[in-house]
Amino acid sequence: MCIFCKIVKKEIPSNIILEDDAFLAFHDINPKAPIHVLVIPKKHFDSFNEVDSETMKKMSIFMQETAKELHIDKSGYRVITNVGNDGGQEVKHLHFHILGGAKLAWQHLSDANPKEMI
Ligand code: 5GP
Ligand code: ZN
Repeated sequence: MCIFCKIVKKEIPSNIILEDDAFLAFHDINPKAPIHVLVIPKKHFDSFNEVDSETMKKMSIFMQETAKELHIDKSGYRVITNVGNDGGQEVKHLHFHILGGAKLAWQHLSDANPKEMI
């Protein structure tokens, strides 16, 4: 069983923000911003590549509710999902990072030439 499935089953403790029957929002253990929360479906999907549109529809609403719960819906935030090797995905259970609580940087994402494909 993957680490986030264990968090869903409460076999591994987490600091939960919001939970319903299908989704869970909890603080990232290694935050990269003043607010860094992970949103996951309780059902295991390896990544964004595998998830169905009905789950995404419901998860989008759950993420909006999470942002409200964190009081960052007005100040702004960033939603990221890393997919696979190039995406830098470490945990192979679909998750969205919700980052906020400060003005976020948007700079160096790779050492490759970003204009190579233009
Ligand atoms: P990824 O790199 O796969 O997009 O992000 C995985 C995230 O999960 C990382 O930001 C990492 O800090 C977080 N993480 C890994 N293990 C745990 C854990 O056991 N508990 C919590 N709360 N976060 C975790
Ligand atoms: Zn899982």
